[in-house]
Amino acid sequence: MSEHGGSGLRKETTADPAPGPEILVEQLHKSFGDNHVLRGIDLEIRQGEVVCVIGPSGSGKSTLLRCVNLLEQPSGGRVFVGGSELTHPDVDIDAVRRRIGMVFQQFNLFPHLSVTENLALPQRRVLGRDKAAAGRVAAENLERVGLADKAKAFPASLSGGQQQRVAIARALAMGPEVMLFDEPTSALDPELVGDVLAVMRMLADEGMTMMVVTHEMSFAREVADRVVFMDDGVIVEEGPPAEVIGNPRHERTRHFLARVL
Ligand code: ADP
Ligand code: MG
Repeated sequence: MSEHGGSGLRKETTADPAPGPEILVEQLHKSFGDNHVLRGIDLEIRQGEVVCVIGPSGSGKSTLLRCVNLLEQPSGGRVFVGGSELTHPDVDIDAVRRRIGMVFQQFNLFPHLSVTENLALPQRRVLGRDKAAAGRVAAENLERVGLADKAKAFPASLSGGQQQRVAIARALAMGPEVMLFDEPTSALDPELVGDVLAVMRMLADEGMTMMVVTHEMSFAREVADRVVFMDDGVIVEEGPPAEVIGNPRHERTRHFLARVL
């Protein structure tokens, strides 16, 4: 058993969860056929830390996030969340997913369900909450994202920014320890981006552990504790935003920033 083994993700319970990073990625590799997409990623994210991942299209950012909640099975290396190893063969994948909220570029709401029902359904299916409890938690989380008045609306009647805030509320209603965001504002009209970023900023201020793939450099600059620049399946550099964005050390980072800033 590893020193990080621990707190409930495995089917068998193990003793003494070691204190450590909330997310730990060790020598992560991922290939799709001959395409070696992640080439040895090492990353630690402490509890309450906000890490923004930046880098060119195709560099492996989404694949990294998807490996952190097992939407993709890593080809090599280890991933721990909350001290428990996700890549352990005995992992309880449903228990993992309960602890990790994920928000995608596409909001993926159920079109035939109201906003409240969108939030309640996963709570009922995955957590076994009854209708009343799921409805209460749905209402609380809609309030958090500023959409209490849209409880009965259907997704198609909402703006993209409102739909993305519903998707965030739906993830929060599951009570995750960690939130992963994959370009959450990239599909939005520019005037709708700010409301979504404001909700993410609120979560950061509340102490949520967050890993955010984004092209919003002002958000990364202002909200991230750390910025990770990826290129071609490796982490080229990481550090405080003032360093990585403000004063990058590597030519590849400078080249990328020159295109996006
Ligand atoms: P990014 O999010 O940085 O744009 P991705 O992680 O989406 O990059 O993709 C990195 C590489 O992995 C790309 O070459 C992409 O084509 C490939 N890739 C991603 N997902 C899959 C998949 N499910 N099957 C095959 N190739 C994939
Ligand atoms: Mg991507």
